[in-house]
Amino acid sequence: MRHVTHLVANEPWSKGARRTGDLVDPATGRVTGTVDLAGAEEVDAAVAAASAASHEWRTCSLARRTELLFRLRDLLARRGQEVAELVSAEHGKVRSDALGEVRRGLEVVELACGIGELVKGEHSREVSSGIDACSLREPLGVVAGITPFNFPAMVPLWLVPLALACGNTFVLKPSEKAPAAPSLLAALFAEAGFPPGVLNVVHGDAEAAAALVAHPEVAAVSFVGSTATARAVYGAAAAQGKRVQALGGAKNHLVVLEDADLDAAADAAVSGAFGSSGERCMAVSVVVAVGGVGDALVARLRERAARIALGPATDPRAEMGPLISRPHLERVLAYLESGVAAGARLVLDGRQHPTSGEPGGFWLGPCLFDCVEPGMPIYDDEIFGPLLCVVRVATLAEALGLVRANPYGNGAAVFTRDGAAARVFEREVPVGMVGVNVPVPAPVATHPFGGWKASLFGDLHVCGPDAIRFYTRLKVVTSRWAPPPPAGPGLAFPTRV
Ligand code: NAD
Repeated sequence: MRHVTHLVANEPWSKGARRTGDLVDPATGRVTGTVDLAGAEEVDAAVAAASAASHEWRTCSLARRTELLFRLRDLLARRGQEVAELVSAEHGKVRSDALGEVRRGLEVVELACGIGELVKGEHSREVSSGIDACSLREPLGVVAGITPFNFPAMVPLWLVPLALACGNTFVLKPSEKAPAAPSLLAALFAEAGFPPGVLNVVHGDAEAAAALVAHPEVAAVSFVGSTATARAVYGAAAAQGKRVQALGGAKNHLVVLEDADLDAAADAAVSGAFGSSGERCMAVSVVVAVGGVGDALVARLRERAARIALGPATDPRAEMGPLISRPHLERVLAYLESGVAAGARLVLDGRQHPTSGEPGGFWLGPCLFDCVEPGMPIYDDEIFGPLLCVVRVATLAEALGLVRANPYGNGAAVFTRDGAAARVFEREVPVGMVGVNVPVPAPVATHPFGGWKASLFGDLHVCGPDAIRFYTRLKVVTSRWAPPPPAGPGLAFPTRV
């Protein structure tokens, strides 16, 4: 049985737990361990450790921070397989998928290795006679991250390396459903040489998260999770004057125009919809078939989805794993039934899909609905499971209208051979991340990741240059080292000379 506890100042928490939660293997339904659930005491201790480390870390040279990040990069590259195994054991995603998320996280560490270039300020000599001005980016202090179950390694890696590179200290609260991989990541930071208190991990649920958001010494909060919680975290943190970025849920549309390569579009839609069992914020959940492509496209989607190998991460042939929990499986099954009841055409029923997994696992194969319409719960809600909806419309304008009317705005994609149509789509679609002939795209780490509307509350996205803006604040220094003119005190408002 695995036991996961908090890491404060690079030491495992030794004071026991008031509450614990079960760790469950989604592929078997069996309990595999426990996780300690933090309350105010553990959060206070973690924030105190981060606070105590803050001054030394923010004054640590960029050269030293870079050296540690390079060490972390090497450790993670060597031990990524171990991280991926823990991701699979707790999340259920197949090994190639888990390794993929570790690699995407590694990209962020590699970006952070260039912190010397990323955090450079600006300097102007002689803005007035004998006076220079410079703009500097300084760390915020103690910052917090609250992360979801579906990317237990990648999402913490979106946040922590860049926040630390900027000179902040960090308290991470990962999802209580998949805590082991983030704990191993924190151990790798410690092994790389990050000093005690620079990165701390508290495990827990809403209680720990709320204590962290409310803590007066936490200067900024990065949240990634469902929209309802993102909205609440944004409100609570902003009300205390904290800097906050809260990334929420999604309903991503992939629009297929009549001139598209239908095989490429179907491959992309099936990968995007059923990878990680649809438990990705960038999952394709709606395919919009424009004009006459509906029948040919649905046939291709069905044929590909029906062939997906469903099974546990221990089965090397498996392409898609189980859902995260029994309650979540039941929720997705209820949506499946609601789709049938609402009159959508169930083309592929995932309940019939064969699996190489044990019967106690939370299995559901790919589900495909045709003739879905707005107003049906399977269209309106984020389901976060292997359920793909096809909506048929007559024109690109109608397809864009669907995306515009949707409350979410994470990602959208278009498949077409028409550059002019792609350009209209790219310009008019109200989402944060756009794919053209690629499935809904998660940008590489050098570009920011984030959505619009109910998919992100706050101004700045994660990763890329936005992360540097989020994790630093500006200071402008105006200085005179030349001898002042012998004029005596003057009370007029200073102007440039
Ligand atoms: P969730 O909202 O249930 O949990 C996310 C985190 O919030 C967890 O650490 C959880 O413990 C914590 N939490 C729970 N209740 C809280 C509360 N009242 N106050 C503060 N924190 C609380 O989300 P989940 O089920 O873990 O993850 C799936 C969701 O995350 C989906 O909606 C998915 O779209 C979204 N997601 C979004 C992105 C993105 O980039 N926009 C990325 C990954 C996942």
